[in-house]
Order: sequence, then C-alpha cells, then structure tokens
Amino acid sequence: MMRRIELYDTTLRDGAQSEDVSFTLDDKLRITEALDGLGIHYVEGGWPGSNPRDEEFFRAVRGLQLRQARIAAFGATRRAGVRAADDRNLAALLAAGTPVVTIVGKTWDLHVRDDLRISLEENLDVIRDSVAFLRTRVDEVIFDAEHFFDGHARNPGYALAAIAAAAEAGATLVCLCDTRGGSLPAQIGPAVDAAQGAVTGTPLGIHCHNDAELAVANSLEALGRGCVQVQGTMNGLGERCGNANLVSIIATLQLKRGWECVTPEQLTRLAEVSHLVDELANLEPNKRQAYVGQSAFAHKGGLHVAAVQKNAETYEHIDPAVVGNVQRVLVSDLAGRSNLLAKAAQFGINLASDQPAVRRLLAELKELESRGYAYEGADASFELLMRKALEGDRRRFFRLIGFRVIDEKRHETEAPIAEATIMLEGPEGETEHTAAQGNGPVHALDSALRKALVKFYPEIESVRLHDYKVRVLGGDEGTGAVVRVLIESGDEHERWSTVGVSHNVIEASWQALVDSMDYKLHRSRPAA
Ligand SMILES: [Zn+2]
Repeated sequence: MMRRIELYDTTLRDGAQSEDVSFTLDDKLRITEALDGLGIHYVEGGWPGSNPRDEEFFRAVRGLQLRQARIAAFGATRRAGVRAADDRNLAALLAAGTPVVTIVGKTWDLHVRDDLRISLEENLDVIRDSVAFLRTRVDEVIFDAEHFFDGHARNPGYALAAIAAAAEAGATLVCLCDTRGGSLPAQIGPAVDAAQGAVTGTPLGIHCHNDAELAVANSLEALGRGCVQVQGTMNGLGERCGNANLVSIIATLQLKRGWECVTPEQLTRLAEVSHLVDELANLEPNKRQAYVGQSAFAHKGGLHVAAVQKNAETYEHIDPAVVGNVQRVLVSDLAGRSNLLAKAAQFGINLASDQPAVRRLLAELKELESRGYAYEGADASFELLMRKALEGDRRRFFRLIGFRVIDEKRHETEAPIAEATIMLEGPEGETEHTAAQGNGPVHALDSALRKALVKFYPEIESVRLHDYKVRVLGGDEGTGAVVRVLIESGDEHERWSTVGVSHNVIEASWQALVDSMDYKLHRSRPAA
C-alpha cells in the first residue's frame, strides 16, 4: 500500500541550536521558500516568546507565497500555577498567527519531579489545559512528547498517561521524542506500539536526536510502526550531535520504501536545498553525506570506473539524478583514456569524436601531473583544460598586466597587514587598476582581483571562496619544494574547485584564482 508521510522540518528552530550556526531573518525566509519548493509539509519557524528575531520571522513569513508548507510556531506547555489563558508564552505563540502550534511537554517522571518540581498529576493538568486552550484557537496543535522514549523505558505508565492527556485534550498529533538521542531502533519499535494503544485515533509523529548516530534509523523504525509524521532538520543540524537528517530520510522513504513524501520533481531538488542550507549556515558541506554529498557517487578506482561506465548500477545504489546529484569520475594519471572520455561526457563535451584533441589532452595532462598538478580535486581546472584542448586555445576574459603583493609587519606585537594591487586588461582592452587589503596575501590578492573583474562582469560578486588548501610537494631537483594550491569556490548554484602549482605560493594561488574566475565566466557567458 502506498503510504504518505508528513515531513516536518525544524531546521529553523532545533537546527538553529547547532553550535556555530546562526541564521539571519533573510536566511530563514530563503530556507523556508526552499523547503516549500522541496515539498516539505511543515516548517517550524522558531520559538516566539523566547527570541525576538523569531517573532520578526513570523511577521515576515506571511509575505511569502508558499505552495504547501504550513508554518508552525514552537513553544512549551504553560507554567505551573498559572491558567493557560494567563501564560505569556502561550500568548506569544498565538500572536505568531500560525495555523500550526507545536508545544513540548514533559512525559518523563524524572523531569517532572526534578526539573519542574511539581506533582505528576499536576503535570498532566498542565498538558491538558495547554493543549485544550490552543486547540480552540489554532487549526493544528502538535504535542511534542519530550523524552518520551526515556520516560517510557523508566516509567511506561506515566509516559503513556502524559501522551493520553494530550490526545484527550484535542492534540491533532502527538509526536514522540527521543530527546537525548540515545535510544536504539529495537527500543523505539515497542514504545511506538504502546503509544498507539494509549492515544487511540490520534496520529503519531517521531522526533529523534542523533546522539548515538541512529536518528535516521530510529525515525524509519517509528514510521514502519505506523507514525505518520517525521520531524528532522536539513543535513541533521541541531544541538549536540544534531537531529534526524531529513535529507536522508526523504530519499530513503521515497526510494527504498516506496512511500510518498514529495513528488519526483521535488526530489531532484534535494541536493540543492541541502547545499543551500549549509551555505547559509556557513558550514562546509560534508562531501561524504549520503545521497547528496559531492563524493556520494564519485568513482576513483580504475575497476569501478570501467564498471560504472558499462552499467552505473554496479557501484551506485540509486541513480544520482533522482536526488539532484551527479556521478563523478575522478581523474588521475593512472586512469587514462576511458576516465578522460567519461569525464568529458559528464561536462557535456564530446571528446570521443576528436582523436587529436584526446591525444593533446593526454599529453598535456601527463606533463602537468609530472609538474605536480592534480585534477582529482579540481574539476573546474580540468574542464578548462579540456575545453582548451578541444578549441585549440583558451577563451580569455581578462589579461593580467601585473600584480604586487606586500606583507608588512610594523611592530613585533602587531598582526601583519597584507595588501595587493592588480592591473589587468578587460574585454575591450581597457585597463583596470585596483588595490585591496586582506588578512593574508592570498585573501588580499583575491579581493583585488574580484574588485577589478566585477567592473566588467557583475556576476563575479556572487563568487565566494570556500576553501583554500596548500600542500608542499617534495622537490626532487634540489631546487626547493613545489606547492600545490587547491581552491574551492562557489556561487548560489554550485561549487567548483581549481588548482595551481608553483615554487611560489602566491603564484600557485593566483593560477587557482584565475581558473576559478574563468570557470565562473565560462558558465555565465557560454561561447556564442
Ligand atoms: Zn529536538
């Protein structure tokens, strides 16, 4: 039977609690739109009442044209000893004006005793009163049963009584939470079964944390037992070790269980939305992330490459295109001709029909690799090389007249200052002269180059430097070591990597920077 699973995203609330992550209001609105485009059913926007920035979000989000995502505001049950109608936090939740309100309440007796310090019976009243109060004022009230699985393990009777209280008071869904994230799938299953017996008729959801790296597995187990909603975050962002990763859950449910969450068209946006969220969170995307990581369908070993060329199924568990990812063939000097042709096909370049170009490219690659260039991590430089072999020459967007980089330290106790000046010639032969400072020489050079190029090519504005790596290669001629610089750049759509090699680290960086800008310009201005 085809099942439909509701996706509830809490990237903007639970996910925003990750160490090192903070979203601006703009980020949150962009993420909301992206989640809506991906087909997410519920977007939890924040905790009004605890955070003024979240209140702004709820005001601004009303201006978005969302297709299906319903916005949820998050809060807690009322304080003990106040009526729900007098509770300030519940009032803030209603003021958010969302169709869905999610409130978290205690279901583990240990928390009621040691944290709330009220009687077990009084906590049930708090739950009933809070849910009933909200239920008459908003469309949907989701009750998050905090620590349900730990509570159920220690005092099953009380945990079940707590969720029964929420269900009886009118909660539209009861979400079972593994808040400490330490449960095993074998513990989740029976507890979900027991919960079903306690809330007859009220649908259940699952909300898992990832402290034992089982949040995805636990979520799948709970859905297998009949939960209809899964809560999680993009890329598993969240406090401590994070929340259940919705990216993996969506792909797994849809592709492995055949359960419908989003449309096939929406599923192809999965990789893009995942990368956008990392981008806005200012986090380096995890190359090895299941389904959407850059390496998820990357093949390096010669045997693997030869096999996937014949039939991709040999080493790929799904077709990468269905989640918006791509197969990558990593180039190395061991790989030879078949890798090269596969790589070209991936870039949409028909190299196979041009034998002289293949020979030229193989010869040039061999020469460059002997000098220390490596293209496994520098697809963009490689694509430029390929185009050059095919077109006979490389399309130039600018010509360097000269640059100068100065590193100055004025006092023992002061940090050095780096400054770069660049003079270059634009597309019409006009000269541009710029200077920029940076926290290091490469940063200064990069800033000066962009500043010059943006005059001719405004799209350069969106290019960002994501990663910069230097490796010292052993010098075999006694002439000193050679350094290889790898740069990863990106814009709002994609990321690309470029390489440079020289005895001089600034020169190596310059080569990689120029390749990066050239790649971007090739993309934005395809040859007529
Ligand atoms: Zn949580």
